[in-house]
Amino acid sequence: MTVIRQNDFIHSIADVLQFISYYHPADFIRALGQAYEREESPAARDAMAQILTNSRMCAEGHRPICQDTGIVVVFLKIGMNVRWDAQMSVADMVNEGVRRAYTDPDNTLRASIVADPAGKRSNTKDNTPAVIHMELVLGDTVEINIAAKGGGSEHKSKFAMLNPSDDIVEWVLKTVPTMGAGWCPPGILGIGIGGSAEKAMILAKQALLEPIDIHELKARGARSGLEELRLELYEKVNALGIGAQGLGGLTTVLDVKILDYPSHAVSKPVAIIPNCAATRHAYFTLDGSGPAHLPVPHISDWPQVTWKASAQARKVNLETITRDEIASWKPGETLLLTGKILTGRDAAHKRIVDMLARGENLPPGVDLKNRFIYYVGPVNAVRDEAVGPAGPTTSTRMDKFTDAMLGKTGLLGMIGKAERGPQAIAAIKRHRAVYLIGIGGAAYLISKAIRSARVIAFEDLGMEAIHEFIVEDLPATVAVDANGESIHTTGPAAWQARIGKIPVIRN
Ligand code: SF4
Repeated sequence: MTVIRQNDFIHSIADVLQFISYYHPADFIRALGQAYEREESPAARDAMAQILTNSRMCAEGHRPICQDTGIVVVFLKIGMNVRWDAQMSVADMVNEGVRRAYTDPDNTLRASIVADPAGKRSNTKDNTPAVIHMELVLGDTVEINIAAKGGGSEHKSKFAMLNPSDDIVEWVLKTVPTMGAGWCPPGILGIGIGGSAEKAMILAKQALLEPIDIHELKARGARSGLEELRLELYEKVNALGIGAQGLGGLTTVLDVKILDYPSHAVSKPVAIIPNCAATRHAYFTLDGSGPAHLPVPHISDWPQVTWKASAQARKVNLETITRDEIASWKPGETLLLTGKILTGRDAAHKRIVDMLARGENLPPGVDLKNRFIYYVGPVNAVRDEAVGPAGPTTSTRMDKFTDAMLGKTGLLGMIGKAERGPQAIAAIKRHRAVYLIGIGGAAYLISKAIRSARVIAFEDLGMEAIHEFIVEDLPATVAVDANGESIHTTGPAAWQARIGKIPVIRN
């Protein structure tokens, strides 16, 4: 009988979570490197170059791939011949491992989990609890599949209870464009088919933990209906032209993984869960011989891609910027920003807008006139860093605040990631403002352009507090110009037409 010791288990969970916070899986890096080589869209290629460069920097610097270090999801297969030498429950041991990993002083990870999600939403401070799935199986080992799943990609999960005669491909192709770019493509689609509603969702999540092998599958040919479906979806989803970060391009998905399970005769449950540019997961087995040790990858495994700002990038001095100047910026144009920006995301926006509605003054230092606000919740700094990884968060969540922010504060524009909705675009046009994007999944690279950082208001909001950043050559792309033209509309439409496999339907 195998004996699994409490300390070995906790130690393994903590170590592996640290490991996946800075090492992308090798299959992901390989697939992204190949997609980068194939990409013809300059904007998408530039985004992929940032993600690949960021990935190598994180591997070398042992710092998180993304500022969102994820919600921990664990699948355990516990052999029925295993005996536990433990005083804690298995769930408590997992959570102790999460706690140790996320509060590690050498590479502190961002605590993103909030308790009482329907009410106070207070941060648990150590990223616990994990979402844990356990299965008892034959055998004498414990198999652990663990992921740190980004909130932006999880947020775009979809589910449908299709009728048996409904077409899965049709539903997926209709649904993926509704996910926008907030899931930080290029990534992977996990699809679960069958079982019950909750089973389909779990299958979709499990599917994401499987290795990327679509090119091997293409080369050898499909041997089952599900493999045929994978190939068809891979080709057709990429033909939508969404591209890296939704900018339009050849690669939206690096693979489509599918798991299925028998279902009731009256229904065909289908779930999609996307995984993002910060795909993070690992698999290991405990056999009683001690904690897990994952092989350390070689830096030579990373493609030789080093992102550099294009020579055409426009240098912007944020200290002298005017509304007339931003009116000349065009969608897709790359900017390098230097000067002061303020940060704020969901909770800070709500508080600011509520204060403005009550006629109150904003806290000292929160002067947004002629400034840009950056939607970010950075990782805390370690050692000599000004700030930890600090990539953009999904902007659509701030759409409902945008009109008030632009109209009542004199704000010039916003920096975030992914598309804006009609309400925000109308506000941007009305106020002659602009919306810029950073690259989701390039957080450590972006943080190197932040020379200093300090909290200036709402400290109680933790990572959501308002910071003042002094930036130098911070890369950003114009996504919505002062006339309300959005690259997230024009880019994918142009690339879908160019790929030419799926007709472009214009509204
Ligand atoms: S890459 Fe995008 S979706 Fe993924 S964790 Fe980072 S910000 Fe979230």
